[in-house]
Amino acid sequence: MRGAWLSELFLLVGLAALGAVLGAVLGGMGWWLMLAVLIVLARHLWQLARLEKWLDSGRQRNPPESWGLWGEVFEHYFKLQKRYYKRKKRLARVIREFRESTAAMPDGSLVLDGDFRILWFNVAAEHMLRLSSNRDLGQSVINLVRSPRLASYLAAGEFNEPIILRSPVNESRSLSARLIPYGKNQYLALFRDVTRIQRLEAMRRDFVANASHELRSPLTVLSGYLESLVDDPGLAAEWREPVSEMQGQCRRMSRLVDDLLELSRLETEEQDAAHQGQVDVPSLLRRIVREAQLQDADGHQLVIAELCDCRLVGVEHELHSAFGNLVMNAIRYTGPGGRIEVSWTLSREGEAVFQVSDDGIGIEARHLPFITQRFYRVDSARSRSRGGTGLGLAIVKHVLQRHGGRLQVTSEIGKGSTFRCVFAPQRVVVSPTEQQVERA
Ligand code: ADP
Repeated sequence: MRGAWLSELFLLVGLAALGAVLGAVLGGMGWWLMLAVLIVLARHLWQLARLEKWLDSGRQRNPPESWGLWGEVFEHYFKLQKRYYKRKKRLARVIREFRESTAAMPDGSLVLDGDFRILWFNVAAEHMLRLSSNRDLGQSVINLVRSPRLASYLAAGEFNEPIILRSPVNESRSLSARLIPYGKNQYLALFRDVTRIQRLEAMRRDFVANASHELRSPLTVLSGYLESLVDDPGLAAEWREPVSEMQGQCRRMSRLVDDLLELSRLETEEQDAAHQGQVDVPSLLRRIVREAQLQDADGHQLVIAELCDCRLVGVEHELHSAFGNLVMNAIRYTGPGGRIEVSWTLSREGEAVFQVSDDGIGIEARHLPFITQRFYRVDSARSRSRGGTGLGLAIVKHVLQRHGGRLQVTSEIGKGSTFRCVFAPQRVVVSPTEQQVERA
């Protein structure tokens, strides 16, 4: 670069010196010097014109050749341009590869803008949602996939979980839809055909429900006969124990069938508004505690620590089942005479919390993530011997899901456990007196 400046300087000085010599010899020094400067200026204008022409030509050809400062300018510009084209080519390749890979995906993929208008979609989406690129680009996905469920999903703006909807192309097929926000106000929408999985799930649920239902009648008959046998004074002494054992097992099977039926009902039944009401939770809890005390043979101290005067919007018998299961678990897994506390309180954030805490055997931390799975037991023998079915917490989880609630469990081995059911404020109806207490 320094060399280029020097050659420009030499040119200027050389021409000025020549002008000065010619001026000294021929006279008119000023004119000769001006001519020297004009020659330098003309050179710059000419090079500028070449640069402009080259830029105007779309920079297709190599840049013009020159020496001195202009040679350097052309060279730098050419290098910059080469770098820019290289980067552009690389980006274009990345975009092409991304589009090719998403286009080949079996899932319907759409790119949406902040107002859920379609910017791009792949071939699978074209078939799955019957889209056409000429007609549908720029249209809102809500207008094209006419599904109230999708509309409320998009309006809610909570995209952590996918939703299931009917296919707009074929009513008998189910699609799962999920939105993934990315970049600046853009979304990737993924649609997947889940008909097969949905059918298998439905088959599994129907099978369990039907099998449980079918088992119920023979069990009732067996229980009836066994009850008569136990009460029969003529029953031989050596048969008393086996018959009473049979009766115990029959009861256990009945409980299992009842829990299985309850679980499949919770899974299949749509939660309709007609069954929902404002549940008087304090009365419900007093009833549950009374029932539990009647069943408790080990003299636990079952106490109600606090009951706030708030109701919960939901289905009473489902809440009865969930809360009852938690109280019975506390009894089951706490030694004789242990203390169990039940409470129903309102948190600062307006959430209602049902809590059962016991000073029983506790649960090791490694088991906690699994205890709401069906038939997951920390100690199967203890659960069975205490009348557990292994389905109680699975029922609790489902009921909470249907009531927009969540389960929190803390436990320490040998010290006890606390189960908390937390319900969102939208579900809670606080009585005026309770509101005054809160404000105070
Ligand atoms: P079960 O009918 O066996 O009690 P659940 O689904 O109700 O089935 O509970 C699953 C497992 O979680 C139980 O087998 C038990 O090991 C553990 N568990 C539940 N509640 C408690 C509790 N309050 N204290 C200790 N362990 C508990």
